Amino acid sequence: MIKVEGVGKTFKQRDAAIFTAIENVSFTVEKGEFVSIVGPSGCGKTTLLNLVAGLEKAETGSIEAIGRKVTAPGPDRIVVFQEHALFPWLTVLDNVAFGLKQRGLSKQERYDLAMEQIRMVHLGKFADRYPHELSGGMKQRVAIARALVKRPGLLLLDEPLSSLDANLRGNMREEIRRLQKELGITTIMVTHDQEEALSMSDKIAVMNAGELQQIGTPLQLYNAPANWFVANFLGMPAMNELMCSWSADGCLQIADTGQTIPVNGGSGLSALHQGQQMRLAFRPHQVSLITATGQFRETDLRGRVASVEFNGRERLVHIRIGDTAIKVYADMAESLDEHQEIAIRLDADYYLFDRESGENLR
Ligand code: ATP
Repeated sequence: MIKVEGVGKTFKQRDAAIFTAIENVSFTVEKGEFVSIVGPSGCGKTTLLNLVAGLEKAETGSIEAIGRKVTAPGPDRIVVFQEHALFPWLTVLDNVAFGLKQRGLSKQERYDLAMEQIRMVHLGKFADRYPHELSGGMKQRVAIARALVKRPGLLLLDEPLSSLDANLRGNMREEIRRLQKELGITTIMVTHDQEEALSMSDKIAVMNAGELQQIGTPLQLYNAPANWFVANFLGMPAMNELMCSWSADGCLQIADTGQTIPVNGGSGLSALHQGQQMRLAFRPHQVSLITATGQFRETDLRGRVASVEFNGRERLVHIRIGDTAIKVYADMAESLDEHQEIAIRLDADYYLFDRESGENLR
């Protein structure tokens, strides 16, 4: 459906310096898929979306959408921006019907289709209201209805929910996803909200500094991040990291404590060299906490409880290992005191990332 190949884009800045906004980005999107583009501010998300929309022109590489090369904006690709940009002098019905003007439909047909779409976004009762009489969430639903009524081949959403409050955002996520699935419209959405991306998408594309780091299903990215950037970007709380190096005989040496722990498994490990600097990383639920000092093993990582945070459902223990702060979820029944000595037992699911290249080695 969409094929982006080796795409690059630069901008000339005020001081005439050239800034590379997108570099050598390639990916494909299948028909009916919902793909989110995530990454830190300024990493090129909107620029990439604009390139697919044809609002910006790629300097290198090529973009194909719906079987055609993208060189300019087209009616088969509709962009919905963060600010809903409805016509204030038109009612909801007229706003939505407006998009159908050039379709050669009779006025009655246009209004019937618009009304059906308005009902789909649950605004049937508000069809004759003006934009200023609607809440932010309603306005955004009208903007989405106006895009969907045209049944575009490709829907491009740029932070469509970021102006809404948290409650509304949750509802709108479900609503957009439902409509997108129901109508089978291929969709690309830019968001800075990883939770939004994780909960809505078939696939997520993670960008950093103009480069695509990885594209895959939310679970693929979460469980098998290609590199440290992706691992650290996705997941709340963020992945824990401990600096370490590779010592011969298949052991890791933890920088903070000097402790060595044996490592097993991982295809990338055979190529490691002695002294190679790495990050030992794990998510807060991927390790076991050992609270009884009598049960500590030599291979456990030792630390002290700094604080315990209860979020209403789970307890997150802040632990210090040497100078490094990490977070681990604890069983509700576990008794935990500040400053208590504690140990972490690595289960099978930890990661090793090369410190220089960031590559996932395990
Ligand atoms: P955010 O999440 O903050 O919206 P983003 O990831 O969408 O950011 P872009 O808007 O794509 O980032 O911008 C990428 C980089 O390109 C930024 O550093 C931005 O300053 C620069 N940029 C974007 N458009 C232009 C332009 N027209 N002229 C010059 N620089 C630009």
